[in-house]
Amino acid sequence: MTILANDFKRLWDDCAADVQHGVTRVGASGWYVLGGEVQSFETALSTYADLPHVVGCGNGMDAIEIALRCLDIGVGDKVLTTSLSAFATGLAILRAGAEPVYCDVGDDGLMDPDAVKQALEIYPDIRAIVPVHLFGHMADMAALRPLADAAGAVLIEDAAQAIGASRNGVRMGALSRASCTSFYPTKNLGAIGDGGALLTADATLAETALSLRNYGQTEKYVHDNIGLNSRLDELQAAILSGAFLPRLQTWTDRRRAIARRYLDGITHQAVTLCPGADPEGAVWHLFPVLVPAADRAAFMAHLGKSGVQAGIHYPKLIHHQKAMTQRGSVLCCGDLPKAQEFADCEVSLPIHPYLSDSEVDQVIAAVNGWVQ
Ligand SMILES: *Cc1c(COP(=O)(O)O)cnc(C)c1O
Repeated sequence: MTILANDFKRLWDDCAADVQHGVTRVGASGWYVLGGEVQSFETALSTYADLPHVVGCGNGMDAIEIALRCLDIGVGDKVLTTSLSAFATGLAILRAGAEPVYCDVGDDGLMDPDAVKQALEIYPDIRAIVPVHLFGHMADMAALRPLADAAGAVLIEDAAQAIGASRNGVRMGALSRASCTSFYPTKNLGAIGDGGALLTADATLAETALSLRNYGQTEKYVHDNIGLNSRLDELQAAILSGAFLPRLQTWTDRRRAIARRYLDGITHQAVTLCPGADPEGAVWHLFPVLVPAADRAAFMAHLGKSGVQAGIHYPKLIHHQKAMTQRGSVLCCGDLPKAQEFADCEVSLPIHPYLSDSEVDQVIAAVNGWVQ
């Protein structure tokens, strides 16, 4: 039996009855798009995340595009981000019409404030910064905020992997204009399909986002903005609020307990742990380790033979993807050696909340038993 990176069968076994309740409720209501379920899910998520406004969207990538467009960032504007992320981060910036600029990460794989400082010196016209809370670890928002303020840039958090995360007491969304999250099924709060949300303390921004997600409509048949069709649907909202959001804190606690077990148990000298700055505040979407680049394929093959499904996040940096390079010159602050190190050396171990302690110990034994 393989220990999976995500175990949707166990998720279903646990949640099926609650999911089916949601489906029945929506089906019987006769109202399938932008109704009471979306509204009550937005309210519930707002409470959970401690942010006053939540706007459900079609997916996490659209939420980032909408956040940028709410702040009037578009054609001709530069947006600083990290190249070590899901491609969607860079693509959302392009879709907004803006130009991504990439800077390097630190030892934790997260946007490095020193690299941001340098980037803002090289490109003083950067208008927005999109840090990514990769692996469920929050970027150093307390360091980024004064840099952004001094440069006159806005901060938008890519929190697709980090719903509910904090770092030394600073919560996701507390120091930025907006945070964007994803309900893609593998995420910590995953739907049974696509979904995403924009979270903000800014009422005006939230109002614009409500309009942009729905064709830029301000009242019925009145379109004041060039919008998108990016709505969270009633079914996903009902499933999220009835089945998955009520379990999120338990799941997050379980992910943290597994992370602690890994951090204490993995002792192989060639396997480098990435505890991050605040392992207790992180929500551990993934559990990344680093191994020497030349040995990664062998390490992954060894894990596979030991019944452990591992992943790589991410094997190719965003600014090296053909979709980016074919557009012409890519704005990049140097060679991004740290981001490249993650691309070459990172391996993600299973950390989904339905892992048993004995499975976690099996993963630890497999890692420690690797003969390099
Ligand atoms: C998943 C993800 C996204 C995109 O979310 P979708 O819902 O798939 O559009 C963006 N950024 C990061 C870091 C992600 O992990």
